[in-house]
Amino acid sequence: MPIFEYACRACGHEFETLVRATETPSCERCASPALDKKLSVFAAQTSADAEPAPCGTCGHPGGPGSCALN
Ligand SMILES: [Zn+2]
Repeated sequence: MPIFEYACRACGHEFETLVRATETPSCERCASPALDKKLSVFAAQTSADAEPAPCGTCGHPGGPGSCALN
């Protein structure tokens, strides 16, 4: 689940929150919806997840470990 870091435009409070697609985040201090999104931790991790899968999870038809033995 994505985690976003926000800075409140109304009071300047900075916080991280889990955000679902159907929800609009608001400041946890003053409840203002006027927020600047600062960072997506989820997006930063996506690039690492795109690395080639280690042997055993690559779906080789010979079974787990087969691709490294050839
Ligand atoms: Zn605020």
